[in-house]
Amino acid sequence: MRIHNFNAGPSVLPKKVVKKSAQSIINFNGSGLSLLEISHRSIDFLEIIEKATFLIKRIMNLNDDYAILFLQGGATLQFSMVPYNLMNQTAAYLDTGFWAHNAIKEAKKFGKVKVLFSGKNKNYTYISTNYHIPCNMDYFHCTSNNTIVGTQMKIFPKTSIPIVCDMSSDIFSRTLDFCQFGLIYASAQKNISSAGMTIVIVKKNILETIRKNIPSYMDYKIHIQNNSILNTPNVFSIYTSMLTLKWIENKGGLSILEKNNQKKAQLLYDEIDKNNLFENKIHKENRSNMNVTFFLKEKHLEKEFNKMWKKENIVGLDGHRYLGGYRASIYNALPLKSIQFLIEIMKEFERKFS
Ligand code: PMP
Repeated sequence: MRIHNFNAGPSVLPKKVVKKSAQSIINFNGSGLSLLEISHRSIDFLEIIEKATFLIKRIMNLNDDYAILFLQGGATLQFSMVPYNLMNQTAAYLDTGFWAHNAIKEAKKFGKVKVLFSGKNKNYTYISTNYHIPCNMDYFHCTSNNTIVGTQMKIFPKTSIPIVCDMSSDIFSRTLDFCQFGLIYASAQKNISSAGMTIVIVKKNILETIRKNIPSYMDYKIHIQNNSILNTPNVFSIYTSMLTLKWIENKGGLSILEKNNQKKAQLLYDEIDKNNLFENKIHKENRSNMNVTFFLKEKHLEKEFNKMWKKENIVGLDGHRYLGGYRASIYNALPLKSIQFLIEIMKEFERKFS
């Protein structure tokens, strides 16, 4: 039975990846042990971390100026870890959505935050490019994809200060010049792996001037020195991420995934725009290719629509609890077929109810 999984995270992963990681829980690499039973300091696990690090750098075209970390605490911990490490006085932030707002809230506990743009009074339906980044800020923080409302930054500003980017919901979904970032973080449960692991990609030289006494788990430099095994890491999630990274390369890398993602998103946005019963509220130039949000124009039809998609093995289409409506999360591993299927359901709904 095919289930069409539109969950926002944890979310759909490549079938092959799920199968191989499931096998590894029974018998990891023919060792007779489960992946869950091996030491995080064993050669087998060190090889996994090394391979995942190598693949991330190759896929993103990054050199050894960057360190790759596999941490815990989700992107939420990064909301504090970033300012703890990088903030001396003032940092610049974009307030583009719920998660960006949370990042700002945490950063304020460490120093001053200058919000360069806030989309809050427009319900986060667009992202301005019309702001200036003062060069005396410690860093500039942005969220590349706003998972809840469904907006995505298409261009990033040029600045001499480090750009810190929360890429939790669109990492590995498109080609970018990743060298423009000082630090990227992404929790794993969308395009990468199971929950409980966060990838941090940091340009080592932005850490050079830090002289603060930071608790060990919060200190990027200590994690780099310890190769992500300062403490016991999430072995399973790191292994699964390594499998996903291999899958990305086998698919042809980020440029191919980007093309697929654009195609999938465009099909769905076209249907929403054409269909008499639905609407998308996001400015066209900021529409996300990962999280497509839409609403029924007539709310009283909600019960009927919900009944219809739920009986067709579609899961995870409900909008975020703060927003309502619908959200189709269409990450890398979601097949085109699932989008086509959803579109058929929407068309049928229109035939019946408009
Ligand atoms: N940032 C973004 C963009 C997210 O989508 C999420 C989770 N959906 C978070 C941060 C928080 O991630 P976590 O739950 O892993 O802390």
